[in-house]
Order: sequence, then structure tokens, then C-alpha cells
Amino acid sequence: MKKIYMDYAATTPTHPDVLKETEPYFREKFGNPSSVHSFGRTNREEVEKAREQVALAIGAETEEVVFTSGGTESDNYALIGVAFKKRDKGNHIITSPIEHHAVLETCKFLEKQGFKITYLPVDKDGLVDPEDIKKAITDQTILVSIMHANNEIGTIEPITEIGELLNEREIYFHVDAVQTVGILDVRVDELQADLVSISAHKFYGPKGIGGLYIRKGTELEVLIHGGHQEKERRAGTENVPGIIGFGKAMEIASGEKAEYREKLLLLRQKLITGILESVDNVYLNGHPQKRLPNNINFGFEFIEGESLFLNLDSQGIACSSGSACTSDTAEPSHVLLAIGVPTVLARGSLRFSIGRWTTEEDVDYLLSILPDAVRRLRDLSPLARQSTGS
Ligand code: PLP
Repeated sequence: MKKIYMDYAATTPTHPDVLKETEPYFREKFGNPSSVHSFGRTNREEVEKAREQVALAIGAETEEVVFTSGGTESDNYALIGVAFKKRDKGNHIITSPIEHHAVLETCKFLEKQGFKITYLPVDKDGLVDPEDIKKAITDQTILVSIMHANNEIGTIEPITEIGELLNEREIYFHVDAVQTVGILDVRVDELQADLVSISAHKFYGPKGIGGLYIRKGTELEVLIHGGHQEKERRAGTENVPGIIGFGKAMEIASGEKAEYREKLLLLRQKLITGILESVDNVYLNGHPQKRLPNNINFGFEFIEGESLFLNLDSQGIACSSGSACTSDTAEPSHVLLAIGVPTVLARGSLRFSIGRWTTEEDVDYLLSILPDAVRRLRDLSPLARQSTGS
């Protein structure tokens, strides 16, 4: 059976050059970077080279990049780190209801610690209005955390505008850029962010490695205590193969981003047009233009997304019926509900995310299968029968 992967937003396959670059670090280059002998010293230098690759790609200073275990840890570090450090200044944090669970669950934890969280409204496309941030700020506000682009619906937020309005104030700005680094041009000065979360496995790097950009002078409480690694900001023996792979993936992405985006945009357009032309009663979730070039998210009326997901999976097509973290629960996506999609339609939504190895043939294959799959499920659906009166 043909196998088609359309879940690149959940994770990407490791780039062969990344794999090649990391392999020696599982073999002969196994030294602990903290060791002072030659095995350790060599790896310390290599880790610092990777840090330079990451910093260069986002326009940061080398010492402003801290390696973490990925996007989730970076989000936790940014939010809890600021909250605990700035507790004396205030206890108010502003975020949006469509953030990844790595931010939302951390906010819940902070609420239990006495912090107050404002969840801003978002419009029907998932956009945050910077004016609403202005209105929500109080003299207790210590942090604003808004994602660069949403992982489910692909909407790209007005980060620079938000950064500008926070610039004058003594409020830190955290941006979860997990879905954009490697695809969009993420430059920390353009975003005007103090903290930026990155995850390597979203752009053909290894899983379990990422980084937090921490603008010079930004004060954070340390979360992981132990040794002196990462300049006392994150203890624990470094994931050397991961870090090397992260640096390499970043370097590759920086060199090819423009070309990559162009390819994705063409395929995305083909897929969106193809679905709209071949299936009726479908709705594109997320902003039509301000969206990630790799994201396609549709609500299919009168069917369960889960059934369509399983049907496509049985025909070799892998997509997502929610974010990877919610796809094993029956709950409709918190993102779709927050943008006002009715619960039934939210349950009938699927995300297709494309990437480096997606081809036109893959898109054609999906388009040759999807309309029939939807039709058959609707034929069986009591929801569809009610709407047509049959
Ligand atoms: N933030 C966003 C926007 C994401 O999409 C993800 C992963 O899907 C994460 C954070 C978590 O990243 P990681 O898988 O590296 O922990």
C-alpha cells in the first residue's frame, strides 16, 4: 500500500545529513563536554559550534541560546522561570487560549501558585488583537506569552506589533516559535521578543532537543538544578548528538528556507483548492492568508474527524485529527472551540501538514481518496441524514 505522511507539524523525519552529522557522537565522539580530557574538550567545542549555528539562524548572540529538551521544556522554563523570578514585581501573565498545551498547562500550574492569567480573545481566524493586550496590561503584569504561529490551524500572529507595544514597558515577551523556526524567518530582533522557544524535531532535527532564546539581561529562575552546564541556566549532561543535529538542521533550514516555503505554498494551494472543489460542506479553519505554508486544516460537516482519520489511515494517509497531544483524547480541539467553530464541526476537523518530502503525487493521491471517503462516511452518518431530511 502507498504510504503518505501528511503530519509534518507533529514531527518531521530526520534529515539524512543531520543523521550523518550526529552519528559519530553516538560512537567514537562520546565524551562528556564537562570532562577536561580531550574527549570532553572536543565535544565542548562542537556543542559551542552548534550553539553558534542556532544563534546565527535567529539573529541572536551565542550566549543567548540555552539548550533544552525541546519545545515543552522551553515553554515551561520561560513561563515558570519569569513567574518565579518576578513574583515580587507582579503576579499577572497574559496569553491566548489557543497556545499549545505546553504553555496552557504551565499557566494552569502557575494559577495554582497564585498567579493570575488573562486569556485574550481571538477572532474567528485565531488572530490576537494587540489592542486587547494593551487593555489587559495592569501594573501587576510581568509576562506576555503569544505563539508565533498556531500548530493546529497555522494562523500567524502579529508578533512584531505585540513586541513593539511591550518594548517600552517592563514586561517580558515570550514567543513560542516551535512551528515557525525552520519555515519562516524568525529573527529575535524583528519579533522584539525576550524569550523564544524552539524545537529541533519540527524542522528535520532530532527529537528531544530544542532551545530557549533568552535575551541578554532577561532574568529567569532556574528550573533544573545540578551541575554547571549551560552557564548555570540548565543543569544536566548535554545531549551532544541532539545538539549537533539541532545545529545542523538549523543550518540546512537557513540555507533553503525561501525555496522550501515556495514549494510548500504551491502544494498547499493545490491541496486546499482540490478539497474545496471535490468535497462540499467543508470549511477551512484558520486564517486564509496569514497562515503557515505547510498547514491545511478543514472542518468536514456531518462526519466525525476521527472516522475520517481512521479511514484515511487505513488507506495509507497519515494526518491529524487534532494536535498530536490531543489526538488520543475524544475532546474537540481547544483551538477550534476558541475561534468559535461549533463543537460538532470541531469534531469533524482534520489537519494535513506537508513538508520536505511531500510531492504533487502525494497530494493527487489524497485528492483521489478523500472525496469518496467523505461521501461514504456521510452516507452512514445520522447527522447528514438529519440535514437532508432523508
Ligand atoms: N509548542 C508548539 C506550538 C508545538 O507545536 C509543540 C509541539 O507540537 C510544542 C510546543 C512542544 O514541543 P516539543 O514536542 O519539542 O516538546
